[in-house]
Amino acid sequence: MLNPDEEKLVEVDVAIVGAGIAGLWLLNRLRGAGYSAVLLEKSALGSSQTIASQGMIHGGLKYALAGTLTGAFESIKLMPQLWQQCLDGNGEIDLRATRKLSDDFIMWSAGSVGSKLVSFFASKSLRGRVEKLKREDFPPPFANSPYKGTIYRLVDVVLDVPSLLENLSAPHMPAIAKTEQLDWRTGEQEVEQLVCDNGVAIRARRYVITAGEGTGAILSALNIQQPEMQIRPLHQVMVKHKLPYSLYGHCIGAQTSASPRLTVSTHPCRDGDPVWYLGGDLANDSIDWSSDRLIDHARKELADIFPWLDFSGAQWATTLINRAEPKQEQLIKPDTAFSSGTDARQNVVVAWPTKLSLAPDLAQQVLTLLQDQIQPGPARHFEQLSALPKPPIATPLWDEVWG
Ligand SMILES: Cc1cc2nc3c(=O)[nH]c(=O)nc-3n(C[C@H](O)[C@H](O)[C@H](O)COP(=O)(O)OP(=O)(O)OC[C@H]3O[C@@H](n4cnc5c(N)ncnc54)[C@H](O)[C@@H]3O)c2cc1C
Repeated sequence: MLNPDEEKLVEVDVAIVGAGIAGLWLLNRLRGAGYSAVLLEKSALGSSQTIASQGMIHGGLKYALAGTLTGAFESIKLMPQLWQQCLDGNGEIDLRATRKLSDDFIMWSAGSVGSKLVSFFASKSLRGRVEKLKREDFPPPFANSPYKGTIYRLVDVVLDVPSLLENLSAPHMPAIAKTEQLDWRTGEQEVEQLVCDNGVAIRARRYVITAGEGTGAILSALNIQQPEMQIRPLHQVMVKHKLPYSLYGHCIGAQTSASPRLTVSTHPCRDGDPVWYLGGDLANDSIDWSSDRLIDHARKELADIFPWLDFSGAQWATTLINRAEPKQEQLIKPDTAFSSGTDARQNVVVAWPTKLSLAPDLAQQVLTLLQDQIQPGPARHFEQLSALPKPPIATPLWDEVWG
């Protein structure tokens, strides 16, 4: 006969905390490898960075804008193929139910593209990945427009993030739970159990923290000094309009800039209108600005880049969102997905993908780490998890504003 506490104690190999793309991908991989695992989320699935992302599964070409291959490019370039296998149903996870917003995206120049970049795009390392479009193949809104520059097509997909979250979570819902409170019970050097809402407690052999920005507070609560987290904000713009154009791509600005002047992705609002979601330098350089100032700037940018389009009837909004990453010198962008054990808790792993595209890389890192340490085993009292509610899929930002 169990005492009441033990009856509520779910025992698993791995407890994952935080259900963005990192936690969901990892749950799929761990359960696929035979591990008993649970995924705990405090609000909605993908509710922070993942739902705010532009859904671009890029192979890192935007990091090569200065004309050379960086470390970021080397680590991310294998990802589009891996995702494509999943989308085709031949990969490590079956993503056939995930909706693609676009099969490719473009890079176009607002001015002249630097000669270094032109020869880089034509180079052997990018063969088959980048194609210079003939004028007659220009996509809307460039077709039949006065635009005189060059357009390159990149064979990388853009995904509808809510459908990706649905696809990753649906087969594993019994292992996913929502808990607003999470009480970390610790011993000397280990986490001993997590106590959730309704008194449901989880004892795991390993605890993996994939809580994005929320990881910072968990590290503090557990007295973990290493690894450390950094935050890099973005101030994105949403433009809801009635123009019949879906656009996915990067506008290349100054020849020497290592990042796009503007990144545009298009997402359907609940009422069917398209929203152009704007990132790139526009979102990076405006983090201290008021929303009104940024909207004014974004209006001028669109008027400058697309003088033939009329956005006068559009509705505008901005959102400020933090990217959470492992700490780098001088707050630079990390090059790769990051996972690591911690200095203070031997059974805790901390993980940040740093990019949606890199979630598979992150999950593989964590799986390899765990496979060295623990063998898959059965869960005990798994049914107790059903005392906790199920988290919904996060609402897209544009539906929060205009839905
Ligand atoms: C504006 C923007 C656009 C982007 N666009 C792209 C793109 O086009 N392509 C690309 O590859 N990358 C993109 N990225 C990067 C990408 O979105 C992130 O790297 C990725 O989504 C991070 O996923 P995550 O699972 O680590 O974190 P998150 O998505 O932030 O998920 C963390 C989850 O943990 C939960 N949580 C937090 N604290 C707790 C707690 N204490 N207990 C339980 N749960 C908790 C949160 O509620 C959340 O659901 C973009 C990022 C931003 C900000």
